[in-house]
Amino acid sequence: MPTLIIASRNTHKAEEISTILGNGFDVQSLAAFPDAPPVIEDGDSFAANATKKACEIASWLESQALGQARPDFVLADDSGLEVDALGGAPGIHSARFAADDNEGNAADADNNAKLLQELADVPANKRGAQFRCILALTALGQANSTELFEGVCRGRISQMETGEGGFGYDPLFIPDGYDNSFADLGPATKNTLSHRAKALAKLAGFF
Ligand code: IMP
Repeated sequence: MPTLIIASRNTHKAEEISTILGNGFDVQSLAAFPDAPPVIEDGDSFAANATKKACEIASWLESQALGQARPDFVLADDSGLEVDALGGAPGIHSARFAADDNEGNAADADNNAKLLQELADVPANKRGAQFRCILALTALGQANSTELFEGVCRGRISQMETGEGGFGYDPLFIPDGYDNSFADLGPATKNTLSHRAKALAKLAGFF
C-alpha cells in the first residue's frame, strides 16, 4: 500500500483527503514531521502553489534520514473559491481574502463576512461560484517532478452563513443541485461532490 504524506498544515483539508482516499493508501499528516520547513505560497496559480508545496516537502523529506519511515509520495492541495461576480476572486487569495497585505491568512469568519459584503448588491441569479482544487503528487526520489490533478465544483454563494460543518467558505457555498450549504450538508455529502473529491478520484485512477 503506498504511503503518502499530505503536505498541508490545514487539518480540515488533511482530514478530508484521508477520509476520501479511504483504505487504499497509508495516509500520514505533516504533523508527524514538525521540523518540515514552511512553504511560502507565492505562486500565481493553484498549480504553481501546489507544485511548490509538494516539491519542497518531498525534497526536505529526501534530505532526512528516515529509514523505514520514508514515505513513497508527497501530496499537496492548493484550492480556493472563484466567484463569478468578482471576476474569479478570491481565487488563490482565498485563505487571506480579508487580511491586509503581508498579514498572512485571515480567520474564516472574516473571509466569509467580507465575501457577503462584496456581494451585498448581487442578486441571487448572479451569485455563481466554484471551488477549485489542484493536487500535486511527487514521488520521493523524484522531487522535481509532479503529477497534477484538478477538480472543480460549481455552485452559488448564499445570502447568509448556514451550517456547522466543514471549514472556510463552506457555510456560504451551495453546490449545484442542492439547496443547502456544504456546512449544512456535512462531510458524507460534501466528500462525494466537492472539488477535492473530484481531484482525488482522478488521483485514485492514476494509481
Ligand atoms: P490554501 O490552504 O492556501 O490552499 O487555502 C485554501 C483556502 O481556500 C482555505 O483557507 C479556504 O478559505 C478555501 N477553501 C479551499 N477548499 C475549501 C473547501 O473545501 N471548503 C471551504 N473553503 C475552502
